[in-house]
Amino acid sequence: MHQEDKKLIGLKRDAFHFVDRNKGEIAKIGDAVFYFAELGMQEFSTSEYAADALRKAGFDVETGISGIPPAWMATWGSGEPVIAAHCEADALPNCSQLPGVAEEKPIIEGGAPGHEEGHNANIAVMIGGAVAAKSIMEREHMKGTIKLYFAPAEEQGISRPYFLRDGYFEGVDAVFHPHVGAEFSTTYGIRQYAVISVEFIFHGKSAHSAVSPWLGRNALDAVVLMDVGWGLMRQQLEPSQSSHRVVTKGGDQPNIIPSYTKTWWFFRDKNMDLAHAHFEKAKKIAEGAAIMTGCSYENNILSVCWPTRANQIMAEIIQRNIETVGMPKWSKEEESLAKELQEKIQVPVVGLQREVKPLKKAQQGMSGNDSGAISWVIPTGRITFPANIPGCPFHSWSAGVSLATPIAHKAEANGSKVLAASMLDLFIDKELLNKVKGNFREEIGDTKYFSILPKDQKPPADLNRDKMDKWRPIMKDLYVTEKVLWSTQRDKG
Ligand SMILES: [Zn+2]
Repeated sequence: MHQEDKKLIGLKRDAFHFVDRNKGEIAKIGDAVFYFAELGMQEFSTSEYAADALRKAGFDVETGISGIPPAWMATWGSGEPVIAAHCEADALPNCSQLPGVAEEKPIIEGGAPGHEEGHNANIAVMIGGAVAAKSIMEREHMKGTIKLYFAPAEEQGISRPYFLRDGYFEGVDAVFHPHVGAEFSTTYGIRQYAVISVEFIFHGKSAHSAVSPWLGRNALDAVVLMDVGWGLMRQQLEPSQSSHRVVTKGGDQPNIIPSYTKTWWFFRDKNMDLAHAHFEKAKKIAEGAAIMTGCSYENNILSVCWPTRANQIMAEIIQRNIETVGMPKWSKEEESLAKELQEKIQVPVVGLQREVKPLKKAQQGMSGNDSGAISWVIPTGRITFPANIPGCPFHSWSAGVSLATPIAHKAEANGSKVLAASMLDLFIDKELLNKVKGNFREEIGDTKYFSILPKDQKPPADLNRDKMDKWRPIMKDLYVTEKVLWSTQRDKG
């Protein structure tokens, strides 16, 4: 075996020891975030707790980046290369679920937010992995910079296109995105869809609906006509398109002609050119609806997500590390919780995953994630770690069951090890990083990233504020207040 390889294996082993020594602290991050259960753009306790853990590990944390109050960028080290990781940590509305029980049971009744995908585990893995890599780099006096990004409101696809627009990713050579799943795996190629999230706002004129409706201009009718127009337009679009909407402001009461309405649309397709073309057509339909009703209209782009993609060489690096780390060793109790739950929700009763998945090319699905933008500008590797129980659909109560239990804790530790090892691979082996970059250029080919996010567009900082103002005081009793304390006791190199 080559001397270098031996050294790298030793350094990775030390990083794994760091994770093992600190697995309780990493689990604490995942659990704290689970119980904060903060909705997108309101992840303040989550953000502060995670930033505190990083500051204690020696990172500088710049908060409020891109005008998003809970967002941050954390930096450790100096010089090149710059290896980064980013992840999301938002919860979902009406998704409160007690962990560790195989039945639907909200922690707080009445529609409280909760984690039913596992973003709480994402942040545990990102921090655990990066702090472990940093501990080795510091000990070995290695050159290079680690950057981490806290990305609010993934469920609304918001923050990362803003980070990119505002230059926070400049100089980053490669980036990892840890995300929860039921498998320990990684893929390469295009995984998700492009999504444009946009509000259409109609301005009319109010009047008494019975006494003098002819004096009004009905902004709700404009919403309805836009709906009809787009509904008919769907037939003329490429079959790969998918689009959907909610009416977020439809008026106040029937006897007042609505003068102000808002309808919020997602336009999706397999690439940004198509999604963009759909949005341009929707603008014409909105204009037509406004003309027909005598209203005026404007649009407000909330976010622009490119399809997520992953680099093949980075996937190979991640895969090797997943195979080295292996699946967590599940206990009998964990297995039986999984099986009981699978029986309850009537999916195949297979228990927890026991084998790591082989490396494969991604299959493009219709979901979106705002990390997509980054993946067309910087080589990206995605680490899927097994904190979910197989068969439990995201955003439903069953997906919340494992997330603050030993199943998630073990997956968070193993995910952290893979992230640390993969970061070390790129910090140590310059040739490998060059290979990643060359392969990335080939993969991207002629596709040039562009963003239709206006230069002066501000992210919607008030999103979900009213909901969290309602729930936070009720949920505060569940908050984990004990902060993270890293054990930095050294291993012999
Ligand atoms: Zn997610």
